Amino acid sequence: MKIAFCSSEVFPYAKTGGLADVCGALPLALAKLGHQISIFLPHYKCIQDQKLKLTKVNEGVFKIDRFPTQNVDVYFIRHDGFFNRPGLYGDDQGDYPDNLERFQFYCRSVLDSLKQLNIEADIIHCHDWQTALIPVYLKEKYQNDSFYSSMKTLLTVHNLAYQGIFPKEEYKKLGLRQDLFGLEGFEYFGKINLLKAGIIFSDAVNTVSPQYAKEIQTHTFGCGLEGVLRSHQDSVVGILNGLDHEFWNPEADKLIEKKYSREDFIKGKLENKKALEKNTGLPVDARVPLFGFVGRLAHQKGLDLILDSVEELMRLEAQFIIQGTGNGEYPAKLKEISKRFPRKFAIWLKFDEKMAHQIYAGSDFFLMPSLFEPCGLSQMISLRYGTIPIVFKTGGLVDTIISFDKNRKNGNGFMFEKYFKEDFVGIIKEAIQVFENKKIFGHLMEDGLKADFSWDKSAVKYVELYEHCLTL
Ligand code: ADP
Repeated sequence: MKIAFCSSEVFPYAKTGGLADVCGALPLALAKLGHQISIFLPHYKCIQDQKLKLTKVNEGVFKIDRFPTQNVDVYFIRHDGFFNRPGLYGDDQGDYPDNLERFQFYCRSVLDSLKQLNIEADIIHCHDWQTALIPVYLKEKYQNDSFYSSMKTLLTVHNLAYQGIFPKEEYKKLGLRQDLFGLEGFEYFGKINLLKAGIIFSDAVNTVSPQYAKEIQTHTFGCGLEGVLRSHQDSVVGILNGLDHEFWNPEADKLIEKKYSREDFIKGKLENKKALEKNTGLPVDARVPLFGFVGRLAHQKGLDLILDSVEELMRLEAQFIIQGTGNGEYPAKLKEISKRFPRKFAIWLKFDEKMAHQIYAGSDFFLMPSLFEPCGLSQMISLRYGTIPIVFKTGGLVDTIISFDKNRKNGNGFMFEKYFKEDFVGIIKEAIQVFENKKIFGHLMEDGLKADFSWDKSAVKYVELYEHCLTL
């Protein structure tokens, strides 16, 4: 099959979160299965800064000269006015005010490029709201052209909380029929909702874990789109994200202090813990459990729960390291806590791939108290490094974590079921007890290291979904 893979983030070119990891790894897994993939992403400033070897293949379209994986081509859509900016979606002031025009331009350029470059895609695989105009334009503007008429679209929703909502006054910029701005189209509480239109216009919709696929059809998690999703119920499936096992691999990771395997992980992890403590200014002490966090500083990721629990947490014999970036009040609050508790609470408020790897490798536990979590990669990454996740029972965390049962001694993490600080602190205390039993804790770490979260199984499921789309 020929697949056009459209995303606003693709690792290693542009990343703010898990979307980039998925869109960097899934194409490689699909190519391994023999499919031909053409990836399209905007040519942001951070990509220009990478000084990649590119060839101009069309007006405003550049292609990577030699991509190391066979069957994969990477194309960048260039428009300096729109994309040569410090952020992907915004800056300290918030979202860029012209995001509608920026991603409309990207979506139309992708569709135009397919014909201009003679890429006869069977499937156009779109990801999140930034690409959601592609299925709409395809059906409304391109499908009468025989080049496009048999192309099918799949829209993957990585996080329903981000929908691409804009004032209705901007609708005319889209150049679409006025009657598409209605209940059965873009309209959402009087505004434009790009994701909603994408869901309606694409041939199939999926999300990134089976549990989240169920949750988003309910009022609690549907973010106002539950009705639209329920009316597409048959096509809303959940496919669990995978990990790039080569990139996230403690045996070969160049970004960590000491590489380690299942044979020497106790020693290896201790060395990484020591380096992490040193690098973040925490006292070096192997006996004290170290809890890491890497993620966007957002309400979704449980920052409020962590902040509310700080007084109790600081009474425990434990250390914490929080890495993340975000707007709003979280950075200042975290700085204040780290000043008050410099021996227990370290912060790293930067987007820094190297430090993230060091936290995955050097921590004993990984904190992931997400209020909701479409799939979550960090819990899988931490298991891959033998670091035990502590998670809330939601979304993809339910599909990947089995809570440790101290009687049967099975499970791969710790899960709390009620979103209260007492429950969160309680599960951390339970984890510390298990940490103190070196034999049991050693088995837990070893089981984590054995886990298989590679893309192999999920890539096959995507192929099945593509095949299904072709029958529609
Ligand atoms: P989400 O996509 O909701 O942000 P995921 O758990 O799916 O969350 O994926 C997060 C990805 O982003 C992981 O690869 C994580 O390591 C990475 N990440 C998040 N924040 C940072 C940061 N400040 N520095 C480096 N990597 C980060």
